[in-house]
Formats: sequence, structure tokens, C-alpha cells
Amino acid sequence: MSSIVERLVKIKDTLPPDVVLVAVSKYHPCDEILSAYGAGQWVFGENIVQELRGKYESLPKDIEWHFIGHLQRNKVKYIAPFVSMIHSVDSLDLLREIDRQAAKYNRVIPCLLQIHVAQEETKFGFSPEECTQMLLEGTWRKLGHVRLCGIMGMATNTDDVEQVRREFRFLKNYFNELKTAFFQDDAMFSCRSWGMSDDYRIALSEGSNMVRVGSRIFGPRPLRQQ
Ligand SMILES: *Cc1c(COP(=O)(O)O)cnc(C)c1O
Repeated sequence: MSSIVERLVKIKDTLPPDVVLVAVSKYHPCDEILSAYGAGQWVFGENIVQELRGKYESLPKDIEWHFIGHLQRNKVKYIAPFVSMIHSVDSLDLLREIDRQAAKYNRVIPCLLQIHVAQEETKFGFSPEECTQMLLEGTWRKLGHVRLCGIMGMATNTDDVEQVRREFRFLKNYFNELKTAFFQDDAMFSCRSWGMSDDYRIALSEGSNMVRVGSRIFGPRPLRQQ
């Protein structure tokens, strides 16, 4: 257990102070989360609704839970009362449903637009064209219970470091483009969520300010991981 804390502290020590570390605790039990929490980590990421709901109920209420996985519309209601950020908004319909559920609890839920930049078809997200189109269309401006805070992306799972770098660089440039076109006067649109255990250092050098690190903190996940 203390090795979790050691690994956590080691990573934290290397992150610039303005970078948010999301400790991805998916598939890991509550006692492991508690040891990271005891060492001062309070932002955790999960990608399965039921699992997140159960952990929320068992663990300290000041934990900030980030939802990072593919989110089905009919499951938004289970996390809307408490989730701190949703990284995986990939359609206007999903954003609308988050808004509708958040309204029931009088909340404003911070959301990131997930942008598909990897080669794998299996990864989710808007294409940049779809995302720009959605923002141009403008419905999102009328949704009072969601707040667009930035973008999220995942690089291709490859050993080709240059490809990973290119994909992150694309995200950086695309973020800047959106910032200029739609969020110039909105200080909240500032989150650049890219980088995981194997590529967060590259991500940091390509403009990330929010890294989602799992196995490098908690160790390998059981095989049912995606
Ligand atoms: C699992 C996951 C992570 C963390 O992956 P590691 O390689 O274990 O750091 C980050 N982001 C998303 C979207 C994930 O599903």
C-alpha cells in the first residue's frame, strides 16, 4: 500500500504546480484510493458509472470525482448529483442530458469536450470538425447547468513517440483555436486534459495542464480493463 503513496508522491513532485493530477482509480478498490487520499490526493478519475457511484457512496465526500469514460445518456442521472467534472462529452445530446440532470440538483457541472485524435476507431470523441460545428451552432450557450471548461483527448496507443507528440500538439493548437473563436472572455475554458501513465511527460511538453494517471500510481489493472 505504501508503494501507492510513494509512486504518487514521486509523480506529484515532478508536475509543475499549475498541473492537475487526476489519479485514475478505475478497477482499484476503495482502500487503495484511501491511501492516496491520505497522502493528500483528492482528485480521482473513474470510467464506469456503477463503480463510480459505489465508490462515491463509500468514500469521503470531499473527494473530487472526475468521470473520464464513455458516458451513455441514460446513466448521467447516477453521477449528476456529485460528479466534479465530466471529461468525455462527445455529443450535443449528451451535453443536453447532463444539463437536464444537473438542473435537478441545482448544480453546474464542469465538462470537457472529448476530441478524437488517435488512429484507433475504438476511441470515442468528436472529430474536430464536428466539435467546431457544434460550437458554431450555439445551443450549448443556452445550457445553464453545464460549463464547458476545455478539451480532453487520448493519443494513439503506440511506441511511436513522434506520433503521440503530433497528436498532443494537434490538441494544443485546437484548444487555442477554440479559445480564440468561442471562449476569449471565459477564464473557465482553460482545461487541457491529455496525458496518461505512458505519455504524460510528452503531454506536458505539448500544453497539457491536466494529466490522467492510473497504472503508474496504482499499479497494473486487472485484465477486464478496456
Ligand atoms: C484508464 C484511463 C486513463 C489512465 O490510464 P493509465 O495508462 O493507467 O494511466 C486515462 N484516461 C482514460 C480516459 C482512461 O480510460
